[in-house]
Amino acid sequence: MKHKFISIALLFSLGLASCQDGDWNKEIDTSYTIGNDTITEHNVVSIKDLKKTYEKAILGQGLKYSNNSVQLVEDEIQIKGVVITNDEGGNLSQCIIVNDKSGENIQISIADNDIMTYLPVGQEILVNLRGLYIGGYSETPQIGYPNEKYSSTVYRMSFMSRYTWYQHFKAVGRPDVTRVPDAVELTDAMYDETLNVSRLVYVDGHFASNDGNTKIADPNKVENKDTGNGVNETFVADKCSTSIIVRTSTYADFAAELIPATDVRLFGIMTRDSYKKRFQIQLRNADDIRIFCPGCNEYIGSTKWTRNDNGNYVCDKCHSVVAKS
Ligand SMILES: [Zn+2]
Repeated sequence: MKHKFISIALLFSLGLASCQDGDWNKEIDTSYTIGNDTITEHNVVSIKDLKKTYEKAILGQGLKYSNNSVQLVEDEIQIKGVVITNDEGGNLSQCIIVNDKSGENIQISIADNDIMTYLPVGQEILVNLRGLYIGGYSETPQIGYPNEKYSSTVYRMSFMSRYTWYQHFKAVGRPDVTRVPDAVELTDAMYDETLNVSRLVYVDGHFASNDGNTKIADPNKVENKDTGNGVNETFVADKCSTSIIVRTSTYADFAAELIPATDVRLFGIMTRDSYKKRFQIQLRNADDIRIFCPGCNEYIGSTKWTRNDNGNYVCDKCHSVVAKS
């Protein structure tokens, strides 16, 4: 009996010792408890080919601007890509956008919160598509589930449950932000191209409301609470013939930040306004609005500037001053 006690005590202390030996490091490395580790890579198709194959579903069986289409993936196929944005920042919620070597992006819609905690930007994932659905919500190509009934016979593209998602993906390796492709400059030519939805873009210009006192998403400006508490601000782009809507949720972490009163370079994800059927840009965070610093010779996120008493912007790093408009 006494012997047994000693054994248990010994095992216990060994257990503790192994934790202190640095096993906890190893535990951090393999912390992906979410996802399906049994998935192995096979039959990977490019996102570009996937969108081509399911184009009819994405575009609503040929009906432009239809919300009505979903198509079950019956083939044993996979995509492998890198997470380029997630729900961090609170402006895009319940989704991730994935990019692969074909250069194309696709949205994956998941009824889950804090996806960023297990799928950070730069994380590569493998997704088993069989059993999931592909379609278009406002022509935004996405992988999800037809949860929402659109009419008596037609279901609309929506989110898959998180339990379904956890069965269908596996994280591959460690996150690496250098795998996220550079933003492309938004031009008129890109403006009405379905394939450019979900792309990371940048555009130079200024906000129409650039008085220096306008919030990125002022709760008093919400027009329709049914559409996700979004606020539209107009952006006047130097090189585009039409102005651009920047839509931000009042739930975004940076909703109360002020729009800079000067020219900026705007970064964000191209999305579609589900009601008015036009492109809009959604910011990922406040530093997606950048001001050019002549001292640093680069565009610097708007949170890295301080306004002085004259209302001008002082670079936190090199103290160059950029005058307000
Ligand atoms: Zn600077």
